[in-house]
Amino acid sequence: MHAIVQCPKCFRHTVAKLPQKTRQCPYCGARINVEKYTRATAPDAISASELVKKFNAKLAHQGIDKWFKK
Ligand SMILES: [Zn+2]
Repeated sequence: MHAIVQCPKCFRHTVAKLPQKTRQCPYCGARINVEKYTRATAPDAISASELVKKFNAKLAHQGIDKWFKK
């Protein structure tokens, strides 16, 4: 099982492979408590990454993307 976790610092989503307890944010380097910040779960890595893309795209629509530096 994979969890889609949201970083509490930069709000972007990433995938954690359960039963992983913490995940380091690939964007800002913050440690994410997997249990606390899980937004969804997916049965495999492919659907998990699809959800991450969807969630991050949604953030972009909400205007949080202005915080994202490319
Ligand atoms: Zn982050």
